[in-house]
Amino acid sequence: MSEIEDIDVFVSGGGVAGLTAAIAFAQAGFRTVCADPAPPITDRETVGADLRTTAFLQPAQAFLDRIGIWDHLAPHAMPLQIMRIVDAGGETPEPRVAHDFNSADISDKPFGWNLPNWLLRREMVAALTALPMADFRPGVGTAHLLTRETEARVTLSDGARLRARLVVAADGRNSAVREAAGIGVRTLRYGQKALAFAVTHPIPHDNVSTEIHRSGGPFTLVPLPDFTGADGIARPSSAVVWMERGPEVRRLQGLDTPEFEAEMTARSAHLFGPLTLVSRLTVWPIISQTAHELVAERVALVAEAAHVVPPIGAQGLNMSLADIRTLLDLAEAARDDPGAQPLLRRYARARHADIVARVTGIDALNRASMVEAQGLRDMRMRALDAIYRVTPVRRVLMQTGLGARG
Ligand SMILES: Cc1cc2nc3c(=O)[nH]c(=O)nc-3n(C[C@H](O)[C@H](O)[C@H](O)COP(=O)(O)OP(=O)(O)OC[C@H]3O[C@@H](n4cnc5c(N)ncnc54)[C@H](O)[C@@H]3O)c2cc1C
Repeated sequence: MSEIEDIDVFVSGGGVAGLTAAIAFAQAGFRTVCADPAPPITDRETVGADLRTTAFLQPAQAFLDRIGIWDHLAPHAMPLQIMRIVDAGGETPEPRVAHDFNSADISDKPFGWNLPNWLLRREMVAALTALPMADFRPGVGTAHLLTRETEARVTLSDGARLRARLVVAADGRNSAVREAAGIGVRTLRYGQKALAFAVTHPIPHDNVSTEIHRSGGPFTLVPLPDFTGADGIARPSSAVVWMERGPEVRRLQGLDTPEFEAEMTARSAHLFGPLTLVSRLTVWPIISQTAHELVAERVALVAEAAHVVPPIGAQGLNMSLADIRTLLDLAEAARDDPGAQPLLRRYARARHADIVARVTGIDALNRASMVEAQGLRDMRMRALDAIYRVTPVRRVLMQTGLGARG
C-alpha cells in the first residue's frame, strides 16, 4: 500500500472550475492536489475539445485577476459591452422587440469578457503546473473518500492516498465526492439540449452579445475575436449557443452544412447576415440541479457539483467562481484549518441564498424562452418590454446579472 501524503486541500475535478479552485488555493499558500480522470484538451482541433465559450462577468474577472491568472487570459478575451435581448416570437422569425442592456449605464468597464473553454484549460493548466504549492494529476480520479472530524482521506484511482484538511468537490454534475458524502440533488429536466459552435458573419458584432427568443429556448451569439479561415481572410465571429427541444436538436444535427447554415441564419433573425459554420457542433444536455447541502464533514461542493443551470445570462461558471471566492476568503481568514466545520457552515450560509435565487430565476427565464403557443410568446414580449421600460428595475436586473451582491 502506498504511503499517505499530507496536504491542505484536495480538489476533485480539473474542469475550468476545479482548475480555478486549485490555482486559488495553491496561490494562497495551501498545499493543493487537483485530480481529474480526463486529461484536459487544450486545443481547438482535437475531437472532444470543449468548444463552448465562457463570458466572465465583472466579479469573476476581478477574482481571476486576484489569483494571478487574468494576465494570461486578457490577450485572448473579447470585451462585451452590450447585452441585447431580442424577441422574434411572431409568426415568422423576425425581430419584434429588441432592448439593449448597456454596461456603460452602471459601470465604466465592459459587463463581461468572452473566452473559449479549451483556451481557458490551456492557460489554467500552465499556470497551475507552475505553482510550487500545486500538484496537478491528470488521468487520475477520486476513487474513495472517508472523512473524520479532523481530516479527509482520499484514495485516487492510481492507488495514491492523501490526507487533506479540506476536499473541494469540483467534479461536475455527477460528482463522485458529493455521492461519497451522501448528499442528494434536486434535478429539473426540460427535454432540451444546447448546440454550441462558432460562426462567422458579414455584419460585425460591435461587442454586443445577442440573445434571441422565439421558441424551444434562446439562440445566443457571444462575440469572439475575428476568425481567419483557410482563405486567409479575417471575418467577424461569434460563439453560438442554440437551445431547442431534444428531437429538434437531433433533426438539426442530421442536416448537411448548407441546410444547417440556412436554418441557423433564419433562427438568428438575419441580424448578422448569413451565418457560416466554422467549427464542429457540440451538444450539451440542459438541466437545472441543486445539491441538498453545500457541505459535509471536511467537504465543500462548488460549481456544477453544487448547482447546474441552463446557459442563460452567462451565470453557470460565474456562480462557480463566486463559490470558490467565498470558500477561499474564509480559508484565508481561518488559515490554520481550511476545512473546519464552522468555516464550512459559514460557506454554506454565505452561498445558499444567491444560488437559490439564480437557479430559480434562470429556470423561469428558460421556461419563458421555451414556450410554443403564440399567445404565450406575445405575453413574453410584452413582459420584456414592460421590464425594460422601468429604469430602476432594469438597473437592478443588470447589477444582478453582473453578479453584484445584494
Ligand atoms: C452550452 C453551454 C454554455 C455555457 N456558457 C457559459 C457562460 O458563458 N458563462 C458561464 O458562466 N457559464 C456557462 N456555462 C456553464 C459552464 O460551462 C459550467 O458551469 C462549467 O463548465 C462547469 O464547470 P465544472 O468545472 O463544474 O464542471 P465540468 O466542466 O463538468 O468539470 C468537472 C470535471 O470533473 C471531472 N471528474 C469527473 N469525475 C471525477 C472523479 N471521480 N474524480 C475527479 N474528477 C472527476 C471531469 O472529468 C471534469 O473534468 C455554459 C454551459 C453550457 C452547457
